[in-house]
Amino acid sequence: MVFQCQRDSWARQFATRVVSCQAAELRPEGGGEPVRGFQVVLEDTILFPEGGGQPDDRGLIGDVPVLRVTRRGPEAVHFVQTALEPGAAVLLSLDWERRFDHMQQHSGQHLITAIADLMFGFKTTSWELGRQRSVIELDTPCLTAEQIEALERSVNEKIRERVPVTVRELAADDPEVETVRSRGLPDDHTGPVRVINIEGIDSNMCCGTHVSNLSDLQVIKLLGTEKGKKNKTNLVFLAGNRVLKSIEQSHNTEKALTSLLKNGPGEHVEAVKRLQSSVKLLQKNNLNLLRDIAVLIARDFKSKPVRSQLFVLHRKEGDSEFMNIIANEIGTEETLLFLTVGDEKEAGLFLLAGPVEAVENLGPRVAELLGGKGAGKRGRFQGKATKMSRRGEVEALLQEFVSHQRAET
Ligand SMILES: [Zn+2]
Repeated sequence: MVFQCQRDSWARQFATRVVSCQAAELRPEGGGEPVRGFQVVLEDTILFPEGGGQPDDRGLIGDVPVLRVTRRGPEAVHFVQTALEPGAAVLLSLDWERRFDHMQQHSGQHLITAIADLMFGFKTTSWELGRQRSVIELDTPCLTAEQIEALERSVNEKIRERVPVTVRELAADDPEVETVRSRGLPDDHTGPVRVINIEGIDSNMCCGTHVSNLSDLQVIKLLGTEKGKKNKTNLVFLAGNRVLKSIEQSHNTEKALTSLLKNGPGEHVEAVKRLQSSVKLLQKNNLNLLRDIAVLIARDFKSKPVRSQLFVLHRKEGDSEFMNIIANEIGTEETLLFLTVGDEKEAGLFLLAGPVEAVENLGPRVAELLGGKGAGKRGRFQGKATKMSRRGEVEALLQEFVSHQRAET
């Protein structure tokens, strides 16, 4: 069946009647709990059920929102959450902003597909109308920057030439059907075949809703290509209002960067490169300082006339190398070392070093107390801690261990 939205894609309101209404459930597109409601079939509709790569419409039946429109054989099924009386006269209203956006992207796709074929012989194997951007899959392993530029120039020329777009209906057995661009009809297709004609450029079998003149597309921006399936290339594009929206977003980002970087858009890239290299240098200096501090801490400990058997140190800034340098410098023959780095209230790292047997015994218990995991060998046990706040308990445990040992010897 051909719906009113296909006969007149510009109709925003339409009077019709309810044919049937059945209780049903709708599975939300993003997953989640199914929504209870009703499937409503109308005598005719201006709400397009998905098809030909074009998503379905939204709108109202009277004042009842339509959450989804799907195709069931020749029928369009409207999902609503309020029951409607069969036979009742209703006024349908279309969410025009959503629909016109779909029309611009879909007719834009037909145009790009046709010109890519005419200019380079690249066939379209599939396409996807996305929420942000749309993608055309071309049957070629690559598309050069020059080809993209030439393609973009040509499609925009056609838009400026205001080429009419018309829809014709052909009987399914009409010999002309064979001459039309098509990826084949769906299995459940019945009735006449719709052919979308961009005058002098393209004839394409399609069920979608289209603009009536290429000038309705305003502009097309090709955003470049992405790697596709084997031997295919995905061409990313925006049509119509999406180009304006995208420019607005980019412009806002640019304004924010101008204020952050304190220079004009022409210097943004250079400014970020300078920032990156100065951050790299600072990180390098920082690491060197940390290593020097580790050495000094160890020397300070070793210079004491009487060394304690337990050495405990916590530092907010540091890394595993910092802790290992201290352990190396102090030497772990007779002293038990408990070192930690990280934020007191967050996760961090720990290192337990000392006599092999003691570390083997105590390591897993330390890890457990700190809510972390660790592993070790040859007198070192290190790992990640999630409960740095429990360092005190670890220290008490180690202190007790050390004084026991002292009592034994
Ligand atoms: Zn189409």
